[in-house]
Amino acid sequence: MFLFAARLSCGSASADSGTEKRVHRLLSFQRYLHSSRLLRGIPQQIPLHILDEDYSGQAKCMLEKVGNWNFDIFLFDKLTNGNSLITLTLHLLNQYGLVDLFQLDMVKLWRFLVLVQEDYHNDNPYHNSVHAADVTQAMYCYLQEPMLSKSLTSYDILLGLLAAATHDLDHPGVNQPFLIKTDHYLATLYRNTSVLENHHWKSAVGLLRETGLFSHLPAEDSMNMERELGSLILATDISRQNDYLSRFRTHLDQDSLCLNTASHRHFVLQMALKCADICNPCRPWELSKQWSEKVTEEFFQQGDIEKKHKLTVSPLCDRETNTVGNIQIGFMTYVAEPLFGEWARFSDTRLSQTMLGHMGLNKASWAGLQQEQTTAEEAELSAAGADAGGSHSKEIPQGSREY
Ligand SMILES: [Zn+2]
Repeated sequence: MFLFAARLSCGSASADSGTEKRVHRLLSFQRYLHSSRLLRGIPQQIPLHILDEDYSGQAKCMLEKVGNWNFDIFLFDKLTNGNSLITLTLHLLNQYGLVDLFQLDMVKLWRFLVLVQEDYHNDNPYHNSVHAADVTQAMYCYLQEPMLSKSLTSYDILLGLLAAATHDLDHPGVNQPFLIKTDHYLATLYRNTSVLENHHWKSAVGLLRETGLFSHLPAEDSMNMERELGSLILATDISRQNDYLSRFRTHLDQDSLCLNTASHRHFVLQMALKCADICNPCRPWELSKQWSEKVTEEFFQQGDIEKKHKLTVSPLCDRETNTVGNIQIGFMTYVAEPLFGEWARFSDTRLSQTMLGHMGLNKASWAGLQQEQTTAEEAELSAAGADAGGSHSKEIPQGSREY
């Protein structure tokens, strides 16, 4: 509680908290009405541990190495019977002693984590609770890095872990442009700006209030917590990546990050969460490849819906003109490499070098697979041309396959 008080003394009180409360209540109500749990009719059952002892023993073993960068979240999810997000988050909160320190009620915490996990759509190939668990595990790895571990407070760590666990809450499996062009109520509600991220944040706030996880804290403390949670989750909006990256770069160029300052620590947490969110290309190939296939499948499913409803197919969403490899190579080149390059300048550690190393290898593997595929296609076309009595393979345009 001391940390809370110390932390909050730096925060500014909201001038119009009355209006803000009314808005929050309205959003909570909207969330309640549109709750995927209600619409999908999933029975609200708390998955009490009915695990085979062997499995739960193996899961416990895995948790001993939860700080390893090659932690296999897919295996962990199987061993925990699909409860990786609950199990991992609870373990990390306990490991840091945050449950005791913030006097969290175990029943409320358990219920909160169960609802968080349930609010992820497990029929999404990518944006599901395993992705949230993966991001939480990556966030933990970053929190352990010396630059962060020596300066972050318990409050920062609690916030960082909760933000990671909730950062994609109730993700519909389609992107913002899709919500805008289909006039989805969320796009209207958030005025076409960080639509998904705002929804993830408000959903998290809804669950915090529903379970009363922080109801024992002074109202101002929990309001600040909700606001900072929002600021972290909103930072994961990839369309704002350049703003964050240039701010980060400027700080590093000028050596002006002062981690004794709360706002600077918060900025570093934002950067850490951004890295955790898109760290798939930096994982070992076997894990990275699975994530790449999953995210591409989610893009392609959106493209299929767009085609079915005669909407313009969004970039990267057409399964006829894109491949997993092309999407990955583009993503690494334009999004992941610039971010992790700066992160490695900030936190020049073995982990950062490992991540960059994996990304280089993964990119080369995708390029190799692309090459193999092109060669195979060319051979097929050449054979077809020969069968047809001519050899026109050189004249067959490959352009449509390039992107
Ligand atoms: Zn995410």
